[in-house]
Amino acid sequence: MLFQKTIRKSIEVEGIGIHSGHACTLRFRPAPPNTGVYFIRKDLPQEPFLKVSAMNVQAVHYQTVLGGPHFQVATIEHCVSALSALRIDNLYIELTGPEIPICDGSALYFTQALLKAEVIELDEPRKYCYILEPIGVQEDDKQAYVLPYYGLRVGVTIDFQNPVIGRQPLDMEITEQSFIREIAPARTFGFLKDVESLRASGLARGGSLENCIVVDDAKVVNPEGLRFPDEFVRHKVLDALGDLVTLEMPLMGRLVLHKAGHDMMNKLVKKIVSQPQSYRFVELGADITGEMKKFANWSF
Ligand SMILES: [Zn+2]
Repeated sequence: MLFQKTIRKSIEVEGIGIHSGHACTLRFRPAPPNTGVYFIRKDLPQEPFLKVSAMNVQAVHYQTVLGGPHFQVATIEHCVSALSALRIDNLYIELTGPEIPICDGSALYFTQALLKAEVIELDEPRKYCYILEPIGVQEDDKQAYVLPYYGLRVGVTIDFQNPVIGRQPLDMEITEQSFIREIAPARTFGFLKDVESLRASGLARGGSLENCIVVDDAKVVNPEGLRFPDEFVRHKVLDALGDLVTLEMPLMGRLVLHKAGHDMMNKLVKKIVSQPQSYRFVELGADITGEMKKFANWSF
């Protein structure tokens, strides 16, 4: 049996929002069992809070934005990605501004902060959302689906016209170790030709070569180059793990995305939630041999 997790002590991460350009301090704070993950806007009257849930997702273009009646929390995906991989079930995330700090554009700062705050077990078993049958969404050539799998596996394929990025597939088992080593350092990216129009529509105002890989038609503009040859698809795995937290249940399954971004992930998560017959809750160590036999001969 595995137990739910939180962190031992509070810890802060500071920075600016990539889209708003606003400074913000984020504080991770321990939370009791069966809480889930909440954002709290400490800068607003009455300190309103929001659960990280697909039902609270308001916008999915370029970033995942959670929204309440009168306030928002923007660009949540890199921060919560670390929670997905480190399997932190319960956490309060306090903010002094409307957008999560972008830091270096990856999940590295958040991951390091959480590890420094020490991930600890709580006195309550974790119940996994164990996928029983394939569930998917498709739009044009974009696909997002989950398959039965004993563990957490993510497969992402991106395919950009841009020759610097091109087609990049990645399929990997997600563990704390593989995430820290292979995924957490992968930075967000954007195209030089889009910078003007993004800024005109109020986005990317805090974006710079310090927190984003910028690509033109022939090269990576950042003088230091890439952290991995396929850093772009690794970042998409990072984003997908972040969006997975909006499921509000730790997934046991195999997530597959083809050219799918935050919008497709949001639709997929909502579809899983709306089909309770497609999953069941299991505690690790529970007997699921029946289901395992059923899917043993499948090939995907
Ligand atoms: Zn991202």
